[in-house]
Amino acid sequence: MIPYDEIMAKAYVIQEATNTKQKIKLVDQLMSEILDEAPPIVELHPAFVWDCENCGKENFCRSIATYLQPGKDDVQLEKMYGADALEEIKRAGGFITCKSYPFRVTCTDCTSSYRTVSSAVPVGEDENDGPLDDGNDEST
Ligand SMILES: [Zn+2]
Repeated sequence: MIPYDEIMAKAYVIQEATNTKQKIKLVDQLMSEILDEAPPIVELHPAFVWDCENCGKENFCRSIATYLQPGKDDVQLEKMYGADALEEIKRAGGFITCKSYPFRVTCTDCTSSYRTVSSAVPVGEDENDGPLDDGNDEST
């Protein structure tokens, strides 16, 4: 990584250059130096984290996320949140993220399995945002 002082020194040289062509060349040089050292880009995905009660290992589970845009996905948004909420969502703008959490998880360390409950949504509070049905619900 290029030290901050070195970047600022080069930026000062660029600022002081009187020839526009030279200035552009120096900016290009500095930008490619910075970008050459930049690490590759990765896409971040939402995930759930949980701690194994048996061994204490912190586990991660990727969530299923849908990005709904007011104006484009109004039918789905109205079905999920109702007409009144849709109007509020439209006023606020932006995207809505909906996540479904797994019905069951298994520790990657000790293989203990657990049923799940979300800390974000109290059980039974939102029927549209609940566990994924894996077809193995032992409670029914
Ligand atoms: Zn474990």
